[in-house]
Amino acid sequence: MSEQFSPPLPPPPRLLVVDDSELIHRLLKVRLKFERIEINTASSSTEALQLVREFEPDVILLDIDLGVGDPMDGFEILSELKSDPTTKDIAVIFISGSTETMDRVRALELGAIDFIGKPFEVVELKARIRSALRVRSVVRMLAQKARIDGLTGLWNRAFFDARLEEEITAAGRHGRPLSLIMCDLDRFKSLNDQHGHLFGDQVIERFAQLLGAGRTTDFACRYGGEEFALILPDTDREQALQAAERVRCSIESEQWLDHPGLVVTASFGVSQYRVDLDQSLMVEAADQALYRAKETGRNRVEHAQPDLDERLIA
Ligand code: GH3
Ligand code: MG
Ligand code: MG
Repeated sequence: MSEQFSPPLPPPPRLLVVDDSELIHRLLKVRLKFERIEINTASSSTEALQLVREFEPDVILLDIDLGVGDPMDGFEILSELKSDPTTKDIAVIFISGSTETMDRVRALELGAIDFIGKPFEVVELKARIRSALRVRSVVRMLAQKARIDGLTGLWNRAFFDARLEEEITAAGRHGRPLSLIMCDLDRFKSLNDQHGHLFGDQVIERFAQLLGAGRTTDFACRYGGEEFALILPDTDREQALQAAERVRCSIESEQWLDHPGLVVTASFGVSQYRVDLDQSLMVEAADQALYRAKETGRNRVEHAQPDLDERLIA
């Protein structure tokens, strides 16, 4: 049966209506009842800002004037949303009885996506909500694309840099372990030369899959060319070495359909977060270990601080 294979519907988009008039809340709930959309309502700025955090709306219908008792108006709420990176991409449609052109201009300049005058036609409102949702999903897709590597689907270098910094801050704050693995395919230039660049690309794609097959909380990234990085939050030295060893074994034992008998290998360098290491030092430490893995024969995992390894000291 064909329905069985259709992908599940994504959850319905969420709409937050911010208006001091209960009548508007009721009207919109009734008139949008048959839209595939989840609606929540707020009557004050306090309630609105709280619901923005809890309900995480995709679109907000925002009234300019929230009544005399409210310390904030729609413009101030919008400015607050735009100044916070976690809420700045929510599509905000202003809705107001004001016929002042300057109100419209101000709303749009502050970052509102649209403006609807009261009283409004519900068909028009629906069309504008749909259009806002489309813009919202394109913005999301672009933001996502800018952080993803085109060939492998792994996180790209820009994401890696930002994420590692965040994870270092979190590890420092919560006193939790954090590990980093840098890896590089061995003798990849000659693999390209012998079997062609297209096959080289296939190897890169396969390696990316193997690297990304670990914990879901890890971040597998393409650092550049045939070099990769894996950020492992909440992971100590022993676990990180095991993770690297797992990837090393899987690429080494991979069977290549078009090239039976071919063995592709990679080298790995592992480092751990310490309070005296910042982002670039942590990368440098893993890189030095990777360099050592290359120097000492490739197809190996090396640790940044071998002198700390009890098994080596013993
Ligand atoms: P080593 O073991 O020391 O790492 O040797 P190597 O040959 O892998 O290292 P080198 O850095 O000299 O060469 C890397 C090669 O990887 C050169 C480059 O053409 C190739 N490469 C980089 N990015 C890609 C890619 O996206 N696709 C393919 N097919 N090859 C790539
Ligand atoms: Mg290489
Ligand atoms: Mg390289």
